[in-house]
Amino acid sequence: MIKYSDALSTLLLEELNQICGDGNVLFKTEDKEVYGSDETEDFYFVPAVVVKPANAEEISSILKLANREKIPVTPRGAGTGLSGGALPVFGGIVLSTERLNKIIEIDERNLQATVEPGVINQIFRDAVEAKGLFYPPDPASRGSCFLGGNLAENAGGPKAVKYGTTKDYVLNCEVVLPTGEIIWTGANVLKNSTGYNLTQLIVGSEGTLGIITKIVFRLIPLPTQNLLMLIPFFSPEKSCEAVSAVFRAGFSPSAMEFMESYAIDFVLKFVDVKIPVKKRNIRRIS
Ligand SMILES: Cc1cc2nc3c(=O)[nH]c(=O)nc-3n(C[C@H](O)[C@H](O)[C@H](O)COP(=O)(O)OP(=O)(O)OC[C@H]3O[C@@H](n4cnc5c(N)ncnc54)[C@H](O)[C@@H]3O)c2cc1C
Repeated sequence: MIKYSDALSTLLLEELNQICGDGNVLFKTEDKEVYGSDETEDFYFVPAVVVKPANAEEISSILKLANREKIPVTPRGAGTGLSGGALPVFGGIVLSTERLNKIIEIDERNLQATVEPGVINQIFRDAVEAKGLFYPPDPASRGSCFLGGNLAENAGGPKAVKYGTTKDYVLNCEVVLPTGEIIWTGANVLKNSTGYNLTQLIVGSEGTLGIITKIVFRLIPLPTQNLLMLIPFFSPEKSCEAVSAVFRAGFSPSAMEFMESYAIDFVLKFVDVKIPVKKRNIRRIS
């Protein structure tokens, strides 16, 4: 097995070039540097080569070549991961999905959308919201992370308690297996009780089982109301009791955030937001 920065032969680089096309195979140190790390602290593993394929067929050819030559392959989305999944710890090939960045279809009638894995989460959210639909998984990195990376990490965000995480919105996906075979993992239906649940096997697999090349998401109608409440409490214990009380009363808030009063004061020094709660106006009522 090829390790760390072992260079690939000119012949193999030429073969990769024929698959991906000029400019989509990076082997110079300065070009591939950025692909050696993600947002996981202080790790850097230089790959032998970075490839930027454009579709599932090209990915299939790359994986067949890698399989034949026993070269490790590490898939990469936007590189915002915090668990080191996109780090090429064995060197070899980093396979970037950045060119697979199309929203293929938003099917309004069936509340579904088909996308490529390199679409940025926020771009997708905006596109479906423009059609009155809602894709809830909202990692804090949504302005830069890719939907393929979200699926591979089962990303969630502040709205996860009410709406769930990425796994709750994936209906089906196209995956290129390490052998180069291209498969669909399920069906574009809400009820699918046949056979093994390959779709959920891929969710959270961090690129270890294959390369996701298309995703079918289910969507929900865009909520018509959005209410933000700021509720002051005299003690952390009381605020924690309120969380359980709110749910027991039958309300399901999309997010609840606990902020300590000193933290609010500190944040207010840096943002131009007025919070209409002054400590001197609060009276203890219990
Ligand atoms: C500031 C910040 C805030 C964050 N907030 C959150 C948050 O609120 N919630 C949360 O869950 N995470 C959060 N994250 C972590 C990260 O953004 C998510 O895990 C995100 O899903 C990673 O997406 P990515 O495109 O950057 O994937 P990458 O980091 O590039 O890759 C992540 C993993 O997915 C695999 N992968 C990527 N694309 C594919 C593909 N097409 N096929 C197969 N495998 C693939 C890679 O091999 C790797 O194992 C945050 C990160 C940062 C830096």
